[in-house]
Amino acid sequence: MRTTSIDRRSGAQHVVNAITAALCFWLATVVGLFAPVTANASPPLRLTDGVYAVTATPGPPDLINRGRTHNSGLLIGAQGVVVIDPGPSRRDGQRLLRNLRTLTRKPVVAVILTHAHPENVLAAAVVAGARAPVIASHRTYALMQERCSECLQRLTSMTGESAMTGTTIRLPDQTVAEGITERRYGGRAVQLIHTGWGHTAGDLAVLDVASGTLFTGGLANNGVMPDMHEARTRGWITALQRLEALEPRRVVPGEGLPGGPRLLAATRSYLTALLERVEASYRQQGSVFDVLADGELPEYTGWTRYREAQPLNIQHVYAELEKEDFAAR
Ligand SMILES: [Zn+2]
Repeated sequence: MRTTSIDRRSGAQHVVNAITAALCFWLATVVGLFAPVTANASPPLRLTDGVYAVTATPGPPDLINRGRTHNSGLLIGAQGVVVIDPGPSRRDGQRLLRNLRTLTRKPVVAVILTHAHPENVLAAAVVAGARAPVIASHRTYALMQERCSECLQRLTSMTGESAMTGTTIRLPDQTVAEGITERRYGGRAVQLIHTGWGHTAGDLAVLDVASGTLFTGGLANNGVMPDMHEARTRGWITALQRLEALEPRRVVPGEGLPGGPRLLAATRSYLTALLERVEASYRQQGSVFDVLADGELPEYTGWTRYREAQPLNIQHVYAELEKEDFAAR
């Protein structure tokens, strides 16, 4: 099992982001505009009866966004609330709970983690509390056990000590295997869909059966470049095809605004185009530098993070093809 985490993203990129965020923080503080408590306190976005998304501005975690870069989901049932991807920290989780209390007094009865990235999972302890179980795939459990302490340190270095104060690691209490697991929490029927290794080894999508709303975690974005630093591209494409076959009515992506099922096709189309471009050059004995020089995908240049992510994604797919060839020998 691979042991990589968010720190495999370009180190240089992190340094630049940290410097930029530090300058923004200083400027905002000097002019008296910085209000950390409210900076990311966007109220839940109602999608349909009892179904909400807590949206975020996509981007690397920094001193301004405090790690709230990925979407969360709320499903309010007759007896309780399901939270999907509780967020990056104790403070952010407390904020999510305060926002939830403006919608309902029902208790949180389950917290579902779509995958083991710190921006998604580190608020699990405070949001689940003593009573609600935390649920994830068995592979996400293993990855969290292996690397969450390191991820917590890394996220703290990116977002600042005050953003992460009191944050503790809560490992999942229940795990699900690959395939579709049907569960009922708080009166809401959900399907937990572990599609194998795509964005990460443990990806779990969550379908709210009554509304047809699919929460994809890192498997799909809306207008935001996919993060591929620990991806298996072919598995990811297959996972998206499986999710598309479920014909969800609406999709809450990991990053970017909620939308229709076309979000699944859009992410799959990007991954397919990237794989085809890199593989064509690789099969013609092209070096990774050749692909980098000829790796633009104009259809996607408008996606957030394209300039930073496209060279990294090309290199990642090239390395995957090399590994495939090596394994086939
Ligand atoms: Zn992720």
